[in-house]
Amino acid sequence: MKTLRTIAAVRAHVAAARREGRSIGLVPTMGAFHAGHKALMLAAREACDEVIVSLFVNPAQFEEPDDLAAYPRTEAEDAATAAGLGVGALFAPAPAEIYPAGFATAVAVRGLADVLEGAERGASHFDGVCTVVCKLFNIVAPDVAFFGQKDAQQVVVIRRMVRDLDIPVRLQVVPTVREPDGLALSSRNARLDASDRERAAGLARGLEAVRDAVEAGERDPAVAVAAGRAAMAAAGVEPEYLAAVDPDTLAGVREMAGRVLVVVAARVGPARLIDNVLIDTEQVATHA
Ligand code: AMP
Repeated sequence: MKTLRTIAAVRAHVAAARREGRSIGLVPTMGAFHAGHKALMLAAREACDEVIVSLFVNPAQFEEPDDLAAYPRTEAEDAATAAGLGVGALFAPAPAEIYPAGFATAVAVRGLADVLEGAERGASHFDGVCTVVCKLFNIVAPDVAFFGQKDAQQVVVIRRMVRDLDIPVRLQVVPTVREPDGLALSSRNARLDASDRERAAGLARGLEAVRDAVEAGERDPAVAVAAGRAAMAAAGVEPEYLAAVDPDTLAGVREMAGRVLVVVAARVGPARLIDNVLIDTEQVATHA
């Protein structure tokens, strides 16, 4: 596996693969690989001939300098992990390669970027995500790009950007990888001490309680979400938001019917964690 630092080197690598007729998969990441990242790389290996993983802790999507500074950076281990999974190239640029002096452009997806995570973190968070992902799509020009369901709003926003800007890439969404107690894997979990780590499972407990309520026949989102809040409170976690939304528009739903995305965010000790579950009432067994 090659580690590439420059846009020119990535373009040359991709051009060589294209000349051999190989399809290209891109896995955008910020590094500190865990089993969630590995699932994306394995899905990419399965679907594409050549896999490129980007590793870039994108300053434009952090609103708190401390959060950016505290973000784990483990490139040597990450490179070994990616190589072991059959990744062809790791693109790990310096910030100045992505944002050279005079950089002045931002990609903003209106509406979808302002709610939920955007409301909590500021809409500039998703502007930062979209700008860097748009650049990565232009640099790599992959056939397929792989994203985790864990960051559900990110997928919705990027899907909109791809449609609106006619970017010729297919998005493949990989299911959330979880710890045995349900906690979604995240690079931020490393910041949790033992007692916070135990409480962190409260996000998954809240989502499960919402799903259980729907499976029991509850169709009122306020009641289903209240059950989720109660489960989180019992685990000692207070959500920043816990909401039942339309999976395409992110607007709050009036009824738990059809496909409903339940999203949650909470601070647990020093870490801000997010999670979600997609409920399809056509699929769930109702006991009502
Ligand atoms: P990050 O490095 O945190 O920006 O994540 C890179 C990619 O991995 C994103 O598409 C995430 O949605 C995805 N990802 C992160 N955690 C998980 C997880 N637990 N399960 C599946 N995908 C994940």
